[in-house]
Amino acid sequence: MKYFPDLANAKIVRTWAGWMDASSDGVPSLGTVDEIPGLYVACAFNGHGFGIAPAVGEQLAKLIVTGKTDVDIQALHYDRYKAKI
Ligand SMILES: Cc1cc2nc3c(=O)[nH]c(=O)nc-3n(C[C@H](O)[C@H](O)[C@H](O)COP(=O)(O)OP(=O)(O)OC[C@H]3O[C@@H](n4cnc5c(N)ncnc54)[C@H](O)[C@@H]3O)c2cc1C
Repeated sequence: MKYFPDLANAKIVRTWAGWMDASSDGVPSLGTVDEIPGLYVACAFNGHGFGIAPAVGEQLAKLIVTGKTDVDIQALHYDRYKAKI
């Protein structure tokens, strides 16, 4: 009410809270998991998962079935977080 005093008398019917899947660089992690062959990740959509899900699903399906994607997704591999030695 400090920020929206006009809502002081509003009747709140229900509230909701949830997690936002976020990454430190603001873009998703997509692709294979080097340490666990056969495991693929598509996560950390940073609030844009609905919008890009069709393209991500298509590319991940192609990666799983053929081992290749139409679009280069290497920059989105989680290994970008690994320390470069
Ligand atoms: C408030 C809010 C607004 C958003 N608005 C937009 C928007 O306008 N446009 C947009 O493009 N995106 C939006 N997003 C982002 C979008 O909702 C997410 O990016 C998308 O839902 C992620 O999809 P997901 O399948 O990766 O994960 P999720 O939808 O989170 O699905 C993961 C599923 O795994 C289940 N799960 C978790 N742990 C386990 C376990 N151990 N065992 C079994 N199941 C498990 C969960 O219950 C859940 O059902 C918004 C997100 C939030 C929170």
